[in-house]
Amino acid sequence: MTTENVEILIVGAGPSGSVAAGYLHRQGIKVKVVEKTKFPRIVVGESLIPRVMDHFEEAGLMPALQAQNYEQKWGARFIRGEEVCIFDFSEKFSKGWDWTWQVPRADFDLAVADELINMGIDLEFESEVMAVEFDGTQSTTTIRDKDGQIKKVQAQFLIDASGYGRVLPRLLNLDEPSRLNPHSAIFTHIKDINRPEGREGTLISFDILETQVWLWVIPFSNGNTSVGIVGPTVFIEQLSSDASTATALRNAIALSDYYIQRFGTLPFIFEPIKLSNYSKAVKQMYGQGYSLTGNSSEFLDPVFSSGVCFATESGMLSAKLALRQLRGEAVDWEVEYADYMKEGIAVFTTYIQEWYTGNLQELFYHKPENPDVKSKICAVLAGYVWDKENPFVLKHDKVIKNMAHLIKLEKENQEK
Ligand code: FAD
Repeated sequence: MTTENVEILIVGAGPSGSVAAGYLHRQGIKVKVVEKTKFPRIVVGESLIPRVMDHFEEAGLMPALQAQNYEQKWGARFIRGEEVCIFDFSEKFSKGWDWTWQVPRADFDLAVADELINMGIDLEFESEVMAVEFDGTQSTTTIRDKDGQIKKVQAQFLIDASGYGRVLPRLLNLDEPSRLNPHSAIFTHIKDINRPEGREGTLISFDILETQVWLWVIPFSNGNTSVGIVGPTVFIEQLSSDASTATALRNAIALSDYYIQRFGTLPFIFEPIKLSNYSKAVKQMYGQGYSLTGNSSEFLDPVFSSGVCFATESGMLSAKLALRQLRGEAVDWEVEYADYMKEGIAVFTTYIQEWYTGNLQELFYHKPENPDVKSKICAVLAGYVWDKENPFVLKHDKVIKNMAHLIKLEKENQEK
């Protein structure tokens, strides 16, 4: 059996592991990435938010990604019957990126992985982590490679970016139930031959079918569009209990007055995939010699496309802290990592919960629009959830509830 030595081992070549790998390699660290599958592989998480651009930049990935000509995402549209609310990231309150991309993740993750390999990073596909043993901060990871050979990798630090593989949460019993109500989704890609010209055709949209049920429409520059239905697990189960996922998604599209004409009869590119009870949480986000990043730590909900952003934020921060630790500096993982990540997670958790109570939807569709309120919510939707200058970040736990309450009172007064 072979044993390799690296400074940092990264499990998983999704966005979280990739930004960590790119950053560490640029700092001169000997890093290895092990990835269970062979890319391209289908994965969900196609609507990015602007904050991720900071991480791709720091990881040295921007030139390679820019060359791919992905569809630019400058905002998002939320449709509710006749009502429409569009957020334009250039009008957001916080400083930072005004745009990002909407990407077919199979291609995107492959482009990222190719670039990491071009940089000289040792990225091994079809290599699955089977076990990990810790001796202080040192770890020995057992891997089964594509030929079925078992080998060991010793590392001074391990970043678990294994997504729903949840390598360390499973091995160390770190899973915890999510605070969010159980929701599920079904999605596929469609060759979008009825796509309208201009922004109408390319704008990312969320069509609210019921307060807790919505359809996503994410057009790609390759002419395909991702279409998915999200709702409480009981709703998705009813939709799909006696039917294939294809019939279930077809029936869901038929519920959308806005999109039935565009997608109603078009064939699905792949059998729609169902993701049941997708929210995940962990008891702890780090331990001696390791950190959990991206979906291996926490995943909330797709409604505001926060998943990849948290994956890259936690991947990048873990990489920076692990680097400092390797260089002999003291790192307070509780404060500098767990507390920091939990602050951002708490903000998005509030927005997601208030979305599903309907309170946030009251703010979105209140007329006349308040540009000041909108710009502050827009900054949150762009992923700038650590900007304490933004009262919609600082007082997230109260501000939406209070404003929705005032709107309801106003409506009641108008009806009297
Ligand atoms: P992943 O991208 O899942 O990568 C993890 C990698 O680890 C995988 O390639 C896997 O093969 C590998 N791996 C697993 N186990 C092992 C092992 N034992 N050994 C080696 N490698 C292993 N996010 C958004 O930002 N925008 C969206 O529009 C969006 N929509 C979503 C819709 C739904 C229904 C769901 C459920 C999620 C959505 N997300 C979205 C979330 C997004 O998919 C994830 O947050 C994001 O992909 C997490 O990135 P990651 O790098 O942590 O994990």
